[in-house]
Amino acid sequence: MGIKQNIEELKSKIPSEVTLLAVSKTKPLEYLEEAYKAGMRDFGENKVQEMAKKAESFHDDVRWHFIGHLQSNKVKYLVDNVHLIHSLSSISLLNEIEKSFGKANKIANTLIQINIGREESKSGILEENLYELIEAIEKCNFVSVKGIMVIIPIGDEESNRKYFRKTRKIFDELKEKEYKNINMNILSMGMTHDFMTAIEEGSNLVRVGTGIFGERNYNLGGESNE
Ligand SMILES: *Cc1c(COP(=O)(O)O)cnc(C)c1O
Repeated sequence: MGIKQNIEELKSKIPSEVTLLAVSKTKPLEYLEEAYKAGMRDFGENKVQEMAKKAESFHDDVRWHFIGHLQSNKVKYLVDNVHLIHSLSSISLLNEIEKSFGKANKIANTLIQINIGREESKSGILEENLYELIEAIEKCNFVSVKGIMVIIPIGDEESNRKYFRKTRKIFDELKEKEYKNINMNILSMGMTHDFMTAIEEGSNLVRVGTGIFGERNYNLGGESNE
């Protein structure tokens, strides 16, 4: 395993103000431990149960990010250990988060996931429905929105840059407004193959899985967003 070297190489490329999120979905705890030893504290998972299980038996000072498609009936399993939910994508999910976190008297930190490429296969809210969601967010008591997350369509660098720019524009527009419960600080975009372009276009959180842990075994599942 070259996990430590991978992380060191990534850190040398990524500006220090950009958060490197280690996407550890499908990977066993020994791999996460290697990353932890190399200094990583932010880990990303896309399955609720897998994240809860890992959180139970791993270091307490880890920040767990939920980056997968989130079903309403699973929100309650996130309450105890999630640091940031990257995939707030509908009003019904928002209401479930408000309810589950409210019960525990905790604030849910979230990012709005935008389906910037308008792909049917991907979750995320469409731009034209954003303001309806924002209105609902303003009525919440237990939800805090910290920024935006996108998974862009597969494409070449030019296409990637176009989607990152489009997202950045929305991010900047929302940042200027004053909405209750919304503070635009985190722009979560960029993965193993496009994170440098994403950073050039304003990303301050990149989600890297393969580039740290190596290829995933697709037969074991885990790719619910792709
Ligand atoms: C799996 C996944 C990643 C990491 O993808 P890599 O190409 O392995 O870096 C990032 N973001 C999300 C939402 C994912 O599901």
